[in-house]
Amino acid sequence: MTKFTDLALDPRVLKAVQEAGYETPTPIQAQAIPHALEGKDVLGIAQTGTGKTASFTLPMITLLGKGRARARMPRSLVLAPTRELAAQVAENFDIYAKHTKLTKALLIGGVSFGEQDKLIDRGVDVLIATPGRLLDHFERGKLLLTGVQIMVVDEADRMLDMGFIPDIERIFSLTPFTRQTFFYSATMAPEIERITNTFLQAAVKIEVARQNSTSSTIEQALIQVTPSRKDRSFADKRQVLRALVRAEGESCTNAIIFCNRKMDVDVVAKSLKQHGFNAGAIHGDLEQRQRMATLDDFREGRLQLLVASDVAARGLDIPTVSHVFNFDVPTHPEDYVHRIGRTGRAGRKGKAFTIATPYDEKYVTAIENLVKQPIPRGDLPEGVTMAEPTAAAPEGESERRPRSRSRSRGRNSESAPAVEAPRVEVQAEPQRVETPRADRRGDDRVVGLGDHVPDFLLRSFAIVPAPETEE
Ligand code: AMP
Repeated sequence: MTKFTDLALDPRVLKAVQEAGYETPTPIQAQAIPHALEGKDVLGIAQTGTGKTASFTLPMITLLGKGRARARMPRSLVLAPTRELAAQVAENFDIYAKHTKLTKALLIGGVSFGEQDKLIDRGVDVLIATPGRLLDHFERGKLLLTGVQIMVVDEADRMLDMGFIPDIERIFSLTPFTRQTFFYSATMAPEIERITNTFLQAAVKIEVARQNSTSSTIEQALIQVTPSRKDRSFADKRQVLRALVRAEGESCTNAIIFCNRKMDVDVVAKSLKQHGFNAGAIHGDLEQRQRMATLDDFREGRLQLLVASDVAARGLDIPTVSHVFNFDVPTHPEDYVHRIGRTGRAGRKGKAFTIATPYDEKYVTAIENLVKQPIPRGDLPEGVTMAEPTAAAPEGESERRPRSRSRSRGRNSESAPAVEAPRVEVQAEPQRVETPRADRRGDDRVVGLGDHVPDFLLRSFAIVPAPETEE
């Protein structure tokens, strides 16, 4: 087995690696580092969790060990798709370069240009950036990329998803042809292949097995919920989620709750907070400072439940969590593997619950096909009972709409969270709601908008409502 000391890394890097507690290089590190140190381009097909960040950071620090940065001309460039990933690379860099004098700057949105400009003006060895922010600096004439000797593109498939490929091509063309390139992607979509063929030269391709199986240390359960009405499925799922978290009790030390859409991330987090849970949200629309603070709280154990979207959580280096809750069944089966892989790490035990409605059936099937085994069906948590089928839909407000007048009138009766006896009124047969939900209230019909009537269209301007609460 390869040891770090076999890898011809700078002794200062080896010392930092040892202090970080790493005993042996991961497969991508063992395979990529020797080629990287020889000056070759590397194409790494690997996803987060494989140790890929160190596989490019350690040789970069070693290679940059000699030489000095010049004003406004960074010597190396790392591009990451999101602010969090860029910040994470920067943190990794700080750990591994701590015994060297190399300098770095992090160029991400949400941080003032002034501070970043000052660092660049002074000259940095490593510039870590998101593509858009880097180009903003470039266009303001504050930055020259002609001194870049090493360029890293991290999570290229994510860049593709986020529409950054034209930016990446532009940035490539602004750097010298003689640069060394490290390019990482979890998958090789045709567009990614095209970029690598264009901008990498005689690259060494290193592929680390794609993870499409789930760890045996993770206890999985699929909790099937048949909503009382289709338009109540989110409210019903929130009740089930609360009951699941409560049922896990103290064994749930920290959990990530995944939602498919960022608007639901906010709603679920807010709802949990209103019901007395220690929860916070991260998704792409939040301010950088806010996201960082929430993540810090979660890492430090001040926050128990982190509600997240896939994009926001992807690649985040969060220590193992005791539980993962899929508030929604992911629509991409690989995301299921990524999500639940947040728990049960390093041989520890973890639990992953997935809340599914009958509308999710095809996604559940896709996951089961990918992982080549059924997800064990779990029972609804205690206290959540299946209601008898009824002809009429039960009374209750529709999803994401303001409360009706009568409900908003009494602060005391309705604005406090419901007393927690988790209960979902569920019909044996899901009742198909054919008409737009607004139709059920004659006074605010919005024809033609189906289930997606924006709240503002339904708002009454004549009433000053009491503060609303989420379900
Ligand atoms: P990455 O795939 O780069 O996001 O790394 C995932 C995690 O693995 C990070 O928490 C790293 O600190 C950790 N890590 C990286 N290399 C090693 C190693 N050789 N041994 C143990 N942990 C490592």
